[in-house]
Amino acid sequence: MTFKTLRDFDLTGKTVLLRADLNVPAKNGKVTDTTRIDRLKPTIDYLVTHSAKTLILSHFGRPKGAPDPEFSLKFLIPALEKSWGHKVAFEKGDGKLVLLENTRFNKGEESNDPTYARALAAQGDIFINDAFSAAHRAHASTEGLAHLLPCGAGFLMEAELNALSAALEKPRRPVAALVGGAKISTKLELLGNLVTKVDMLVLGGGMANTFWAARGADLKKSLCEHDMLDAARTIEAKAKDSGCEIILPVDGVAATAFAAHAPHVTCAMTDVPDGHMVLDIGPETIDLLKQKLTTCKTIVWNGPLGAFEIEPFNAGTVALARFVASRKNEITSVAGGGDTVAALEQAGVVDDFTYISTAGGAFLEWLEGKTLPGVAALQTKEKAT
Ligand code: AMP
Repeated sequence: MTFKTLRDFDLTGKTVLLRADLNVPAKNGKVTDTTRIDRLKPTIDYLVTHSAKTLILSHFGRPKGAPDPEFSLKFLIPALEKSWGHKVAFEKGDGKLVLLENTRFNKGEESNDPTYARALAAQGDIFINDAFSAAHRAHASTEGLAHLLPCGAGFLMEAELNALSAALEKPRRPVAALVGGAKISTKLELLGNLVTKVDMLVLGGGMANTFWAARGADLKKSLCEHDMLDAARTIEAKAKDSGCEIILPVDGVAATAFAAHAPHVTCAMTDVPDGHMVLDIGPETIDLLKQKLTTCKTIVWNGPLGAFEIEPFNAGTVALARFVASRKNEITSVAGGGDTVAALEQAGVVDDFTYISTAGGAFLEWLEGKTLPGVAALQTKEKAT
């Protein structure tokens, strides 16, 4: 995959259109988590130093293709200025950084209307996309615009693409994927793609129950998708054909209710007591996984291995997260997806992973092996005029 980055452009005297993802968590008009904003700082610093002006584009929320004060980006200005340490004007101004209004206020954004894309392109000389997390959408400001101006990736997009490439495209082997979460129905494509790419697929969480049920086990009250047993068998067969070892938990922690500190026991996955549901991987499984993962040079992780929001059923996820973190000097570790980031934060290991993606949907689509339109467009050679 070849694409230009910020460093490849002479930005002197130029106006840059920067696509950022400022669709950040907010409450009562205040940003509650600035991670996405903070991660843009290297790109912003570079642009302030090297270009004449930067117009920042982003969507926020789901306005219906028309201006709606509830979704105005204006409230972001104090958070941007605090995080970046630069003055940011709203909509217009003579300063170096200007935040434009929500791209989704124009109905041409989501329909990728060329007229809207051309109107955006007319405002700048160069397009820099630093919104990997919006790259799975073919919208005017993520895809259309890239065909109209010289374009490249910002530092955040570049880091994300490099990390993803190191994890699955050209990984140091053996490579293992850890996939947890509630259901296989939401991750069928992801599992189907991963078994063709990785040497080992470790399954945890509710979805491991479904795989056990497909092998004939009775999971009692556990979360289990009984209409997905054939799908699970298909994935097992595909893994076998691809030389990918599927590793299921051997034991679990089973409780009588989905509640913090509910009465619980440790049991074999093939011997779940009546009236119990498996809510976490058990100690034998933790040992097994540590032993298996010791040989791996690359680990990709999506989804918690148990009901990590309620104690003590976070123990398996936390133990594995800490184990992966402890090997930080020997392996490449990439994790992503909403719940996964929350689980790694809980384990206190976010700084010990090689890369943690905050991209959510785009990260999952990338794990599914899909081409992300916003990324593909950056590689376009011929520009329309
Ligand atoms: P997902 O959004 O598919 O990644 O699933 C995350 C959710 O799966 C979290 O809310 C976990 O509580 C839930 N989960 C993980 N393991 C289990 C399990 N064994 N039983 C029920 N829910 C689980």
